[in-house]
Amino acid sequence: MIKTAIFDLDGTLFVGKTVVPGAAEALERLRLAGIKVFFLTNAGTRTREGVAHKLTNMGLQAVEEEVYCGSYLVAKYIAANFPRKKAFIVGEPGMAEELKAADVPVAEHADIVAVCLDRHLTYEKLAKAHRLLKKGAEFIASNKDHTFPTEHGSMPGAGSIVAALEFSSKKTAHVIGKPNPFAFEIMKKELGLNEEETVMVGDRLDTDVMFAKNAGIKSALVLTGISKKEEIKEKRITPDFVFPSVAELTLP
Ligand SMILES: [Mg+2]
Repeated sequence: MIKTAIFDLDGTLFVGKTVVPGAAEALERLRLAGIKVFFLTNAGTRTREGVAHKLTNMGLQAVEEEVYCGSYLVAKYIAANFPRKKAFIVGEPGMAEELKAADVPVAEHADIVAVCLDRHLTYEKLAKAHRLLKKGAEFIASNKDHTFPTEHGSMPGAGSIVAALEFSSKKTAHVIGKPNPFAFEIMKKELGLNEEETVMVGDRLDTDVMFAKNAGIKSALVLTGISKKEEIKEKRITPDFVFPSVAELTLP
């Protein structure tokens, strides 16, 4: 029996700036049935609190403790694996705040280069990160998403910034976001979740459903975002459940 549902955000609960019809009611229905609800996004530009705020403003009730986002996960990963090491950020203030909260010192002369989407990217920042990587710094990224959707169409995602640095440094970034099961390890530790009673609900086979498989939890694909039903056969990634949208979500 499922006791915990982890929701992806974009493509699952909203698409761009539009909430999926019935999403708020679906979350409410699960909570009333005693199912714990969490949110997991690879996006690293906001803090956990910032993401909770964004969701609440969209009419999707959420608190900071329910949010697991790229910035928080990168900070947790660095704190756990490279204690007391300094990090140089190619990213936005949300990443800096989460690193600070995890007691990771942020510096120009650093042992780690931490990358997420940076909509204020400059050549200078890229050059600094490149030089650190050439000197042997660890290379950590929230995600390698090629693009992200906006009302003006798709825009270059965190992956396009990671790609620039991988190309120049000839190093490969270690990606912390889905499908890496690291988030579930953290959630298990912090929340005491267990595999058999947890489902990941998302719109992408290669990230959300693969994350569930890597973590050993159940998966539900919703068809409101990127992945189409036909791709299940093509990609040979089979979710446990498929729903047209979160509004139709029912859990065993
Ligand atoms: Mg998504």
